[in-house]
Amino acid sequence: GENNEIEKAEGSFDIDLPDAEMGNVCTRFPPEPSGYLHIGHAKAALLNQYFAQRYKGRLIIRFDDTNPAKESNEFVENILNDLDTLGIKGEGPTYTSDYFPQLMEMAEKMISEGKSYIDDTPREQMQKERMDGIESVNRNNTVEQNMALWKEMVAGTERGKQCCLRAKMDMQAANKSLRDPVYYRCNPISHHRVGSKYKVYPTYDFACPYVDSIEGVTHALRSSEYHDRNEQYYRVLQDMGLRKVHVWDFSRLNFVYTLLSKRKLQWFVDNSKVEGWDDPRFPTVQGIIRRGLTVEALKQFILSQGASKNLNLMEWDKLWTMNKKIIDPICPRHTAVLQEGRVLLCLTNGPEEPFVRIAPRHKKYEEAGKKATTYTKEIWLDGADAAAVSEGEEVTLMDWGNAIIKHVEKDKNGTIIRLSGVLHLEGSVKTTKLKLTWLPDISELVNLSLVELDHLITKKKLEETDNFLEVLNPCTRWEGLAIGDANMRNLKRGEILQLERKGYFRCDVPYLRPSKPIVLIAIPDGRKQSV
Ligand code: ATP
Ligand code: MG
Ligand code: MG
Repeated sequence: GENNEIEKAEGSFDIDLPDAEMGNVCTRFPPEPSGYLHIGHAKAALLNQYFAQRYKGRLIIRFDDTNPAKESNEFVENILNDLDTLGIKGEGPTYTSDYFPQLMEMAEKMISEGKSYIDDTPREQMQKERMDGIESVNRNNTVEQNMALWKEMVAGTERGKQCCLRAKMDMQAANKSLRDPVYYRCNPISHHRVGSKYKVYPTYDFACPYVDSIEGVTHALRSSEYHDRNEQYYRVLQDMGLRKVHVWDFSRLNFVYTLLSKRKLQWFVDNSKVEGWDDPRFPTVQGIIRRGLTVEALKQFILSQGASKNLNLMEWDKLWTMNKKIIDPICPRHTAVLQEGRVLLCLTNGPEEPFVRIAPRHKKYEEAGKKATTYTKEIWLDGADAAAVSEGEEVTLMDWGNAIIKHVEKDKNGTIIRLSGVLHLEGSVKTTKLKLTWLPDISELVNLSLVELDHLITKKKLEETDNFLEVLNPCTRWEGLAIGDANMRNLKRGEILQLERKGYFRCDVPYLRPSKPIVLIAIPDGRKQSV
């Protein structure tokens, strides 16, 4: 069937849009400014750009701002930033609100042509009548009656507020979206761009086809949950007497353990469950980038989805694995030792005076720059490493050489308090089982806060009927203190690094002063569950 075609189209990514002519294709990305862009929007935006470029056509960026209660300039600005981040360049932005005068004229034209009517049936009853195929008592009112009530709506009077404007389509249609959809509603809320000029706002069903057609869009791409409404979209344009626009659906992107609804994300922001729309636990463009995803990986992932036919529910691991392949060859290496349980190892034949060697921050990628490593007689080891060594064992100290552990000193509870050993630099690093990270015992070490994050919800696949409030993950953030090599003082916000043997991190808060730790957020690598 048709849906299958769509899946295949997306799968291969080289299928043609219907009736697409080279040089004459116009697509559009129409976010509602009611939140920041999330990864699903990124897919929609990238697909629109992809087809515009492929047909040497145009892409319009349009803010679909018809619902003043949820929208704001903050969202407009951040969406523009997010598009910039994704490298999406289109014409505009245009705003549906720019067309409010024309949309009102169109509404009046449709009333006068008998193609729409004013209805004051209460909302719930209207829904029930739509399900049951029952016509509203107002459906056959005269044009004059409708016009008079429309004036009440436009003025936002008490009478007007009881009413809405509905299409007169087909109350018996098998496709329920054709059962007299709502075109305009009264809403007394001030709009972020046009202020309180209007008391009535068009619905998506009315405004979207109108603006698409007027702006010259040839192909309107929408995620497939709107598929049943395609017929309605075509019918609206026909009733308006406007040029036809092709609707082309693509499958909606979903991720395990993830909410991709702006309304639900807004709940987390409003209830301080996250730091904001850019929280690294959020699936927003800003959130996942703050978590350590590269734009390159995001684009690769979205454009590679084509290979899979079952696009409904994606695993995060696949995306993070792609990301790892991008960051690993270039991100600098540093060393950290966890604060808690760390142990000093005294190398009895170690350097009496500390000395410094300059080393690359990445052994195979010179552009990552250099770092200074200080070598001291006493060095810090992670508590877990100290617990893993045994007396007489030869180990490798990374970027230094071998050492033989001579003595493991414990207190009366069995806690290791100190190790001693001797450097054995002529020993072969190939023969040792343990390769240990270490830090010199110098005052220049920096304090680190290592942040691990988890999904915000505990259910893998959230169904329409699920209440997300019942599956909230009670704990989604852990912070561990560590010490790190002094070179990390120069990390910049946004820089991605690897802490040897600990994993990849992104610098969220750089060095400010000794007492305030540098905040590093753990980047999932698609392999180990990071928590
Ligand atoms: P939300 O439910 O998060 O509010 P929305 O669909 O209402 O999402 P819009 O701002 O209206 O958000 O969406 C802009 C475009 O992004 C639309 O074309 C929409 O189909 C698309 N889109 C939204 N969510 C997804 C998703 N999860 N996968 C693919 N495309 C999406
Ligand atoms: Mg929407
Ligand atoms: Mg939605």
